[in-house]
Amino acid sequence: MSAAQIPLFKVCSDCGEAKLPEDFVADKTKPSGRRGRCKVCQRLIDRQRSRQHATAERQRAWHARNPGKRREYQQRWEAAHPEQVKENRRKSNQRRRERELAGTAGKESTE
Ligand SMILES: [Zn+2]
Repeated sequence: MSAAQIPLFKVCSDCGEAKLPEDFVADKTKPSGRRGRCKVCQRLIDRQRSRQHATAERQRAWHARNPGKRREYQQRWEAAHPEQVKENRRKSNQRRRERELAGTAGKESTE
């Protein structure tokens, strides 16, 4: 009896299941010729990605159809939330001051 071809199981890096090599995504750039992810997991990821892509596409298309709307929304939001705008401005001023102080710290004042 010659050495039978024992199917080498691969463990999927995503779901952790041991599967046959042919259940993995083929990738010629990999030395093993297969990716570490099984076809089932790859399909899930592809589906997810195409959905995200579709959403991003829709948003892009919307902004292309409605130029200037983003700024309009921003201005409307600021008008509706004056306290929040003030707070955000205060915070960014504070951050800038802290950065400036950090930049001058350690240097001797000549004044
Ligand atoms: Zn998997």
